[in-house]
Amino acid sequence: MRRREFLQAAGFAAAGITSGCAARKLPVAAGPPPPASRGPMAAALPRPLPNLALPRISWDRVIRTTIGLRPHRDSGFVLRPEKFDGKTVIHNYGFGGAGMSLAWGCGLMAAEMALEHGMPAGGVRRAAVLGCGSPGLTAARQLQRRGFQVVIYAASIPPNTTSNMSLAGFTPTAGLVEAGRRTPGWDAQFRRAAELSYTELQLLAGAPGYGVYWIDSYNATADPRASQTRGAGGGNPAGDLLPDHLNPGRGREIFGPGEHPFPAPYAVRTAALAIEPSIYLQALVRDFILFGGSIVIRKFDTPRDLMLLAEPVLINCTGLGSKTLFNDQELVPVRGQLTHCIPQPEVRYRASGRMPGSSVSAGINPRSDGLCIGNMAERGNWSLEPDEEVRRQNVEAAMQFFGQMRPPSGPPAPHPAMSGRSVPAIESFYGVES
Ligand SMILES: Cc1cc2nc3c(=O)[nH]c(=O)nc-3n(C[C@H](O)[C@H](O)[C@H](O)COP(=O)(O)OP(=O)(O)OC[C@H]3O[C@@H](n4cnc5c(N)ncnc54)[C@H](O)[C@@H]3O)c2cc1C
Repeated sequence: MRRREFLQAAGFAAAGITSGCAARKLPVAAGPPPPASRGPMAAALPRPLPNLALPRISWDRVIRTTIGLRPHRDSGFVLRPEKFDGKTVIHNYGFGGAGMSLAWGCGLMAAEMALEHGMPAGGVRRAAVLGCGSPGLTAARQLQRRGFQVVIYAASIPPNTTSNMSLAGFTPTAGLVEAGRRTPGWDAQFRRAAELSYTELQLLAGAPGYGVYWIDSYNATADPRASQTRGAGGGNPAGDLLPDHLNPGRGREIFGPGEHPFPAPYAVRTAALAIEPSIYLQALVRDFILFGGSIVIRKFDTPRDLMLLAEPVLINCTGLGSKTLFNDQELVPVRGQLTHCIPQPEVRYRASGRMPGSSVSAGINPRSDGLCIGNMAERGNWSLEPDEEVRRQNVEAAMQFFGQMRPPSGPPAPHPAMSGRSVPAIESFYGVES
């Protein structure tokens, strides 16, 4: 028996699909020939099939639909200081669909700019941060780490910020910039921000209470090569901005027909760095307060209002608010909509795919606050009301696609921290220096 035949037979058997078994019918194997590369162990050992719990998606399990307006600028985020009378305002906003991904790095660079303001007579540096979403909170923490006393001023705080409406994963180029509007200076800022943020998020991954972790992500597809191209940019034409090691789709593996439970010929598995916004933002608020910060609920209408603040340095993280507050007419909302079903702790993987002939892609993101379905990017729409038609399409596409998934034959895959990884042999640690 050739290896591929063996894997297929093993796959069907492991999934309980043998003659006489009443399992659902699998799609006929079709599509391009399987890619050759499967990692160094592939030639020796058949891989275990991913034993994935079935998502339960139905209208009576839908618990809420959320809307968020991504703060997009065609020329990318703004990160620069500006003088207003005696104050320095450091702008740090306009992150489009990447504000959860880039915030730590941009926050660090904003803090470096704040340090250039000079040491005050009393020896205590003070700064105000405007805005309490992901960019505001991380900038505030970076300032605290550098010895600043920080006050956050914001019209709204978690759980009522755009950042709370995020999906959210490490997608540093998503909806961020138009390729033709980039400059070498902006590219350099972006790359540094992406590196710094990735490092910071990795340090938080697995730390209890932050809601940051690695998770397997499957893209079910007829053409695994197309999936590779799309993954490289996080869905953005600015994909060449990212060095390979920051590519959101890491550890790429391809499962062929019969080797996976999805209703498509292939499934591409990558590892994704995920953030649970409600846990993460609450943890950032907690840390900010623990390190002596305070939060004032306040809305500013003009830059003149800001001149009354006691702090000499202000970091502007107001996102879309900068359109009116600082008259940035390039800012435009890109509306997103997520529908959540009752949480399913046993579903420990992300997945996306599309039924043949359907124009709507189906996707699930499991989080502790719900099984998250669908997404959208609608430019220029300021409405915070759910679009019922989009909601219907997203839920129905997910019901159709995941309703065709093959049930698991055994206990579901282990926790994301361990999923898909084999435990290295003890010998592999011999001779390792720390
Ligand atoms: C559906 C969806 C999915 C997403 N997925 C991802 C993802 O996977 N990965 C990722 O990295 N990003 C993702 N994003 C993008 C991310 O959520 C945003 O980039 C980020 O939240 C923007 O943060 P912000 O600080 O600009 O906005 P906010 O979080 O809204 O924060 C702005 C703050 O400024 C305050 N403010 C504004 N104006 C004023 C004013 N005049 N006076 C006082 N305070 C003011 C607000 O009250 C608020 O506190 C997604 C977004 C959406 C909607």
